[in-house]
Order: sequence, then structure tokens, then C-alpha cells
Amino acid sequence: MKPLTFKGGVHPYEGKELSMDRKIRRLRPGKEMAYLLSQHIGAPAVPVVKKGDYVKIGQMIARPVGFVSCPVHASVSGTVKGFEKRKNVVGEYVDAIIVENDDQYVHVEYHPIENLSAYTRREILQKIQDAGIVGMGGAGFPTHAKLSQNHPEDIDYVLVNGAECEPYLTSDYRCMMDSPEKLIGGLKVVLYLFEEKCKGVICIEDNKPDAIKLYQELTKDEPRISVAVMKTKYPQGAERNLIYAVTGRKVNASMLPAHVGCLVDNVATINCIYEAVMLGRPMSLRVFTVSGDAVVNPRNYVVPIGMSYKEIIDLAGGFNCEPEKIISGGPMMGFALADLDIPVTKTFTALTCFKKDEVAQLKETACISCGRCLEACPASLMPSKLSDFAEHNDMDKFLEYNGMECVSCGSCSYGCPAKRPLAANITAMRRKYVDSRRR
Ligand code: SF4
Ligand code: SF4
Repeated sequence: MKPLTFKGGVHPYEGKELSMDRKIRRLRPGKEMAYLLSQHIGAPAVPVVKKGDYVKIGQMIARPVGFVSCPVHASVSGTVKGFEKRKNVVGEYVDAIIVENDDQYVHVEYHPIENLSAYTRREILQKIQDAGIVGMGGAGFPTHAKLSQNHPEDIDYVLVNGAECEPYLTSDYRCMMDSPEKLIGGLKVVLYLFEEKCKGVICIEDNKPDAIKLYQELTKDEPRISVAVMKTKYPQGAERNLIYAVTGRKVNASMLPAHVGCLVDNVATINCIYEAVMLGRPMSLRVFTVSGDAVVNPRNYVVPIGMSYKEIIDLAGGFNCEPEKIISGGPMMGFALADLDIPVTKTFTALTCFKKDEVAQLKETACISCGRCLEACPASLMPSKLSDFAEHNDMDKFLEYNGMECVSCGSCSYGCPAKRPLAANITAMRRKYVDSRRR
């Protein structure tokens, strides 16, 4: 069968061979941990500890405010040192709880369960909420809120995004290969929340044939779970593209996946659901990729949330030269960093570090009307025109040409022979519109 896919997209250099075959290694943090109170979409959490308190791994140190919010848990044992502003990945200073690690790794008592069916749907959702799980692919939407559908009977598909289409990133792949029981177990937990007709589909790109084979074998006797083989193409893992490729259903900017009977969660999120519900462990760890040609040891690591990027790079073996570009995330959708004094959050996926900043070296020239950006756009937009409207601050035209449907994937800029910063211009205009609506 032909691999499933969507219209548009690009195929950048994958860079996955650098880290994909090396097993995940655990890193131990140093003395100081910083827990940002806003690691999710929604209201920031509020501290429930005070200076001098002793905390254990898995202990809630900040509580959620309202339904679309998430608690924050300690990932080390130690003493609360105080409350400070710390920089997040986009350079804003936000509130954080600072904990001094005592290096003892004492944790709270975990309460694993054996039999899912002994619990109600509401009780399972409460466990997911209490564990502080958010969408770990980058969006950070609270998972309990996504799974708490008013009409669960309308959900036909739970899609597990195992595409990992972003270049250089391999943490989802490694988790899939190293602990398949978590992914399948976590998916069973999610399917338990919906009716029997709802099917789980594990979506994997065809550049990971060993993962496809493994999951086809492991799910062959699971009537509610199947594997979908996806074409290797960026941005295959974007929610709308995945839904279209697997089900043929279309989602636009004014809709949620649930409007077409689908929910999408990435591999790391499903693994966390397994740990929270079946093992009773709240979210306090993050598996991520350190890669790029400036890194001595490209590999996947598991670290406590709150550990600093700088420590991670040092413990991972450091740089082999002064990198010109460091990105939190992958090169297509990540955030360029000015420094590494940033704590790991729940949505942190990777650090990719490059000897050369190739984008900065590109010289922009005039559009040659080649149409490549149009072909590459998975949202069927006209990136060249939208970028022009953004440059001229013409919001009416930008909206008329559906600029808000852009998903900031960067496929248009990637293929542009004139090296125009199309995606950056369009994304900036989208932000401007969202800000004006908020005001
Ligand atoms: S216009 Fe937006 S959605 Fe289309 S290719 Fe560019 S960044 Fe991606
Ligand atoms: S890809 Fe670049 S040069 Fe080609 S039409 Fe689009 S903006 Fe113009």
C-alpha cells in the first residue's frame, strides 16, 4: 500500500542518523532547578510551596488555575530556595519556583493501577489532569482538557503522531523503539475514554521501517489499534496534515480536530499518560534530542524538567566549536536561542546546534514567480502574496487571502530560490492579528 500523505510539503535533509540509533541516556542535574509556572497553554499555575519547604520528586509545587491549566511537579528532591523570574524559550521573563537539588532523589509514593476498568472515565481524566500532562509536541495544551470531550461518542479516531517529521529530532522514535509497552499501554488508556468504535492509529513515517514493523507485530491482535505508514515528508506530523492523510477529513483554522471526530497526541504525551495513569507518576521528566553538527555527542537524553539547557549541553559533552546557531526544537519550527540560561519545560523537544547559521548567510532577492512556495504550502495558501501583504501591513488583504490558515511550518521559505523570509513575515502578521483581537 502507498504511504499516506497530504498535498504540498518539502523534504529537507533529515539529519536523524546522528542520534537515532543511540539509546536514551539519563542526565543528572546540578544544584539548581527552575520550574516555570507557565509551561502550558492557559492560566499559569500558582505556587503551593513557600521558601524553605522540603519537596520530593512528583510533589505538586504549583496548582492549576481553572480547567485549562496544569499543575507543576518537582523533578528532584530538595529545598525551595525562592521565587524568581526566569527566561523562557522565546526570551520572556516569567515566574519560576527555584529548588535546590539535594541529590537524594526522594520521591512521593506512587500509586500504580493494574485494572483500568476498575476506574470511571472521569477518574482516569482526573489522574491525567493531576499529573500535569500537556501536549508535548510543542503546543502545550493541557491533555485532560483535550480528552474531556462533551460528546465522546463523536470521536472515531485517536491518532498517535509518531511521524516526527522535523529534521534532526529522534526522541519520539527512540521512545517508540525502547518502550513500546508505554505507547501501546497509553493508547489503550486514551481509547478507554471513548466508545468501542473509536480506533487508535499509530502514524509512523516510512523512514522508520523498524518502528513500523515492531508496531505492526505488537498490535496485530489489538482490534482497536492499527499502524498507518506515512510518507516521509515535512510537515507530515502537523495535526491537520496527519488527520487528512489518515482519514481524508479536513480541518481549518476555525476548527478543532474533534470537529471531524479526531484527536491527535504525540508519542511523548501518550507515554506520559501511561506513566500517570498506570504507574501513578506525575509528569516530571522530559526525553529530548541533542543534535546538530556542533554537538560532540548527538543523542537522546532524559532529564528532569527544570534543568538548564546549559547543564544539558555540558553533560552531553559540549560543543566541538562555537556554534553560530542554537535552536530549541528543530531547524524548521524551533526557536533560535541567544543563550542557554533557560530551564527545560514540558514542551521542550530538542536542542539543535549548528556550526554555521545558514539562514543568516542567505541573501534575499526579488521574487521570480516560480510558484514553488505555492506548491510547498500544505494549507493551499499563496505564501508569496501573503508575505507581500504582511510587508505592507495590509491586514484586510492578508485576511482575504486566508493568512490565518497558515500553520507556520516554514515549507514556503525552505523552497524559495529568492530566499524570501515568507514564513517569518506571515507568522508575524498572524501574531499581529491575534494581538489586536485580544486587545
Ligand atoms: S504559508 Fe504558512 S502553512 Fe503555508 S508553507 Fe508557508 S509557513 Fe507553511
Ligand atoms: S518560491 Fe520565492 S521566488 Fe518562487 S514564487 Fe514563491 S516567493 Fe517567489
